[in-house]
Amino acid sequence: MSDEGMLIIISGPSGSGKGTIVKKLRKIDDFAFSISMTTREPRFGEEHGVDYFFCDRNEFIKIRDQGGFLEHAQFCGNLYGTPKFYIDEQIKKEKFVVLEIDVNGALQVKEKIDNCILIFVIPPSIDELKKRLVGRNTETPQKIMDRLARAKEEVKLIYGYDYIVVNDDVDTAVKKINTIAKAERLRPARNKFMIKKIIGGD
Ligand code: ADP
Ligand code: 5GP
Repeated sequence: MSDEGMLIIISGPSGSGKGTIVKKLRKIDDFAFSISMTTREPRFGEEHGVDYFFCDRNEFIKIRDQGGFLEHAQFCGNLYGTPKFYIDEQIKKEKFVVLEIDVNGALQVKEKIDNCILIFVIPPSIDELKKRLVGRNTETPQKIMDRLARAKEEVKLIYGYDYIVVNDDVDTAVKKINTIAKAERLRPARNKFMIKKIIGGD
């Protein structure tokens, strides 16, 4: 076990499969998941307190102004934010805490927290991305166009990330993220207590 947990940030274009990957990561014990707040309307099947904490704009702005978010951003007209309280709690429990957030939020966290791990999930092609967004059937054609336009902007920030995972096959993508997390846990900087126990020193 390392000294403490780590923050793993997963970003990528809407429709690249982040949510699908995160659902599978939930079955692995070492991972804990932040639940974001959003002003977006729930999609069919989404549950309050499971997929998101759904709220209205006023409520969101109140929490933001009280400093309740680790980061927050606007995405295609809706507000999204990561509540602070849960993150600290889980990090102390030595968990890999996963934040599935957009590129602007990811860069805010990178500025604030040393050693967080940034993973960018991309689809195998733009055609496949379109196909997945259309196939998901959760957004209007106009909103799908907005999200595709936004994807082109997001990929420009890919070099600010530590790892890239192509989501061709979901299980392979999940294995890659698990491997990244395990390898990151072995960094000497994350194991100072263990090193001290073995070789002594301050
Ligand atoms: P995101 O969370 O990045 O917006 P989703 O996880 O909602 O994306 O995935 C978008 C759509 O693509 C969903 O209908 C999902 O079932 C499908 N999907 C996800 N990963 C794959 C994959 N590797 N191959 C084929 N379809 C996928
Ligand atoms: P969706 O509406 O498809 O659930 O999410 C749209 C985008 O918002 C995705 O890129 C998703 O990663 C991002 N997102 C979800 N929660 C948060 C959050 O708390 N903060 C930020 N910055 N982005 C988020």
